[in-house]
Amino acid sequence: MFQSTLKDSVTFDGVGVHSGEPCHAKICPAEKDTGIIFTNTKTRKQVRANYKNVANSAMCTKLVGDTTVSTVEHVSSALYGLHVTNAIIEVDNDEMPILDGSALEYVKKISDVGIEMQMAPRKALKITKMVRLDDGEKWITLSPAESLSISVNCDYSSKGLKTEPLKFDFAEGDYATEIAFARTFGFFEDAEFLKKNHLALGASLDNTVVFDKCGKPLNKGGLRAVNEPVRHKILDAIGDLAMSEFQIIGKYEAYCPSHKLNNLILRMLFSDARNYEIF
Ligand SMILES: [Zn+2]
Repeated sequence: MFQSTLKDSVTFDGVGVHSGEPCHAKICPAEKDTGIIFTNTKTRKQVRANYKNVANSAMCTKLVGDTTVSTVEHVSSALYGLHVTNAIIEVDNDEMPILDGSALEYVKKISDVGIEMQMAPRKALKITKMVRLDDGEKWITLSPAESLSISVNCDYSSKGLKTEPLKFDFAEGDYATEIAFARTFGFFEDAEFLKKNHLALGASLDNTVVFDKCGKPLNKGGLRAVNEPVRHKILDAIGDLAMSEFQIIGKYEAYCPSHKLNNLILRMLFSDARNYEIF
């Protein structure tokens, strides 16, 4: 595999789902070996999309370095899903726009301008030993396999929502049509608590699937596909694994994963060089 970047810049306007403030972002092509870098357009300060820069945050993936940017997981997922390894993302606020709550607009606009292969090999990481993280009933494993696959199971039965386990295999599946469209979701009964705690101030039915007590979506038009919440969990996991900055060759399996646990499993993976091979 080779490194790649966008053929041209693409722009996005929207609001931050947590701050509720307007934000504008531009994804620009970048030289080989750049990686994914976020630049704050007001301060010109930057932070690299790397797992070591991921801060412990409620409900989103937040990068902290010379600048801070929240809710980076969906753009990160889109770039990884499209195999874009180099890009500079300019943003005029400390949060990426939530758009429709999925990675669809990123995928569409990047695909429209096209992706350019660069004459440099992409770094790959093969998992050689299983790594397991447990947090109460929640768990994640990374284990050896021939290609990257993401398997997620969730349990929202206490919220009245039924979901099915789902596996997405990069070797067989199509990220753009199977995963990218899946939106962020939440539960109506949690909405008041979130607003009181100044979280999800920008959340609305335009960017979040909201389920009622019976697990029925309140959004007009309902779900975009069966099992949309689990697909979104896979979208999020891809965005978080992208912070490894490697093409991962291995199997990710999880029960009730979160951004925090996704970051911790990467830290666990990299903590022992016997867990992986780089080539
Ligand atoms: Zn998400």
